[in-house]
Amino acid sequence: MSSEVLVEKKKLAKPPLNVHFLGDRILRQPAKRVVHVDAELRQLIREMLQTMYSSEGIGLAAPQVGVHKQLLVIDYEIDNPARPPLILINPTIKQVSRDTCVIQEGCLSVPNVFLDVKRPSAIEVQYKDEYGRPQKLSADDILARVIQHEMDHLNGILFVDRVENSLMLKQELAKQGFSTQAVKTIV
Ligand SMILES: [Zn+2]
Repeated sequence: MSSEVLVEKKKLAKPPLNVHFLGDRILRQPAKRVVHVDAELRQLIREMLQTMYSSEGIGLAAPQVGVHKQLLVIDYEIDNPARPPLILINPTIKQVSRDTCVIQEGCLSVPNVFLDVKRPSAIEVQYKDEYGRPQKLSADDILARVIQHEMDHLNGILFVDRVENSLMLKQELAKQGFSTQAVKTIV
């Protein structure tokens, strides 16, 4: 990780990008592969990181800020200033574990809603870093979970689409003023 995309892990009074919320059709459009990994893209990465840290999120996908590029930023140690974030460009999952696990997920596009989702426990992912260099990563536990959640955004899928407990889903969405009609259940 070079310093070119690093930003301070802090909340900004006015984050540079707006996050779109459940119900906004922009979240349902699939993202396109990034062709040029250049200074302009790295500026977008910086702004996505600042926006993510401002909302205390641990991951943000470009479609959430209305940019339909296959780009994710992840940092599940936002309290650790020494730990660099993970930047994934054009990620593809090469392998998924057969075993699955249930973890409670949340999303900056569905604020204050936290619900159980079942996904594969471990994955292997290929991607390009912020300099366009090919990278490979084996992930399990929370990192595997965040990557899968964020990669769903690139296909216009939101975690609420994968919630199996429809009663809880209805209740939690209603509490936060979201319509269940915005959910496209795929389980
Ligand atoms: Zn999300």
